Amino acid sequence: MDTLRIHSRLELLHPVHGLAERHGLSPSQKLQQQDNRASCGRSHRKWSKKGLARAGSNALLDLVPETKKENLEFDLPLYDPSKGLTLDLAVVGGGPAGLAVAQQVSEAGLSVCCIDPSPKLIWPNNYGVWVDEFEALDLLDCLDATWPGAVVYVDDLKKKLLGRPYARVNRKQLKSKMMQKCVSNGVRFHPAKVVKVIHEESKSLLICNDGVTIQATVVLDATGFSRCLVQYDKPYNPGYQVAYGILAEVEEHPFDLDKMLFMDWRDSHLKDGTELKERNSRIPTFLYAMPFSSTEIFLEETSLVARPGLQMEDIQERMVARLRHLGIKVKSIEEDERCVIPMGGPLPVLPQRVVGIGGTAGLVHPSTGYMVARTLAAVPIVANSIVRFLGSDHGLSGDKLSAEVWKNLWPIERRRQREFFCFGMDILLKLDLQGTRRFFDAFFDLEPHYWHGFLSSRLLLPELVLFGFSLFLHASNTSRLEIMAKDGYSAKLLRMFSVDHVSASLSMRQQVIAVGPSQALGAAGFRS
Ligand SMILES: Cc1cc2nc3c(=O)[nH]c(=O)nc-3n(C[C@H](O)[C@H](O)[C@H](O)COP(=O)(O)OP(=O)(O)OC[C@H]3O[C@@H](n4cnc5c(N)ncnc54)[C@H](O)[C@@H]3O)c2cc1C
Repeated sequence: MDTLRIHSRLELLHPVHGLAERHGLSPSQKLQQQDNRASCGRSHRKWSKKGLARAGSNALLDLVPETKKENLEFDLPLYDPSKGLTLDLAVVGGGPAGLAVAQQVSEAGLSVCCIDPSPKLIWPNNYGVWVDEFEALDLLDCLDATWPGAVVYVDDLKKKLLGRPYARVNRKQLKSKMMQKCVSNGVRFHPAKVVKVIHEESKSLLICNDGVTIQATVVLDATGFSRCLVQYDKPYNPGYQVAYGILAEVEEHPFDLDKMLFMDWRDSHLKDGTELKERNSRIPTFLYAMPFSSTEIFLEETSLVARPGLQMEDIQERMVARLRHLGIKVKSIEEDERCVIPMGGPLPVLPQRVVGIGGTAGLVHPSTGYMVARTLAAVPIVANSIVRFLGSDHGLSGDKLSAEVWKNLWPIERRRQREFFCFGMDILLKLDLQGTRRFFDAFFDLEPHYWHGFLSSRLLLPELVLFGFSLFLHASNTSRLEIMAKDGYSAKLLRMFSVDHVSASLSMRQQVIAVGPSQALGAAGFRS
């Protein structure tokens, strides 16, 4: 991709952070570099402030404050290396995934240590979730803003209202809640980075960057996209979701306060014939926004998925043009986030000695980049497996125990489901702006059961097959041709599933031809 420069200017009112010097990514630093496997402690997911292009003309970036590092007020019970105990579980990484497993395993009375360089730091990401997902997890108290619905702008003429409540996660509250439970269950914390693991027959030794060695029967890698310990044996070739987000104080904005903006695919902010418009037509980005009040809003320009991922400067340039067109004047920026999420790609080696959860374990949704709710829903599977197989009934350790945990986390039907989602990602990777619009036009016309289930990873076989055909039936003729031509959609769909599912879908197709989509889906129980 060409090196991009940001020429646009936002009209700014009070440039409160205007003088902070930010050094640039060199033009040659491309996102392809992310394909290199991160070593322990080097994360894929964020570029540091210093890695941000300086773009002297970009007044928006001049408003970005230096990173605020806010810690939780906790007296952390620390791990005591002098005792040399072998713990039941060592959790490497204290993000949402790791902390949730630490909490649940310690609840069963097992000894747990959580190792993270900054265990008290409030998580940096702005997490958005569907309210029903957090309700199912009994975590409604960890949401700090909710919207009764969402809106999708397919293009300048068509908008879709989604009657599904959405929310922003209160990351401080969620982390505090988990930490409190961990502390009262006796979890110990060790503020360091793990640099190496050595496995013995029934225990593993974790070597930390402060020289401390921690011994545990089970090691859980919860280091997110750095994938510190979990091994992969296939080339890592994910797509990348890249986004630039700001939590901003603005003079005004045009969005309804009772709807979050899930996707805005309009491109009227880009002038015809410009290179930017052409780039956006090939690899489109959309605006995602959470309006908290008439003057406070989270805005994120997002490339849903691309391989290689888009450059951050490109995304920022598009965002600047969009905000100017929408008349959004940014007064100040409270925080910004640079989001780089690897999507799809192979699963880790199954099974393997180190167990995984969250970003390390392939739990990110390959078609959407969402993960928090799904990971938290998968935590009891991992935690219960550890407790059960380590417990007196089974008394497993070493490779045998890990194999049971992996088997429960990734049973065959979940792997098939993930294949389907990866297939969805492959389609999205190939669609230009018009194709993407047609895709989402059809997607959000589906019965809520389908699109809710797809986005929240709830659909399993054979519902996914029906989902695939239903999407196909809702698509415009152009869209169908695009999908068929590019991927051999039906054939691939059918190949993906076993003979039983194939015959189910074929009979579904026959019914569709005989009685039409509505009746066929109704007969299959998927239409209200
Ligand atoms: C900017 C951004 C926004 C996102 N927004 C959403 C969203 O809105 N909704 C959603 O569902 N998903 C979202 N995601 C995707 C995903 O949910 C998050 O990445 C989530 O934080 C992953 O959780 P995790 O616990 O697996 O890893 P992380 O949250 O990344 O936590 C990993 C922890 O491991 C620690 N660590 C790393 N290496 C080591 C080491 N060697 N030793 C010890 N500790 C180590 C890190 O310091 C970190 O604390 C977002 C991702 C990003 C990057």
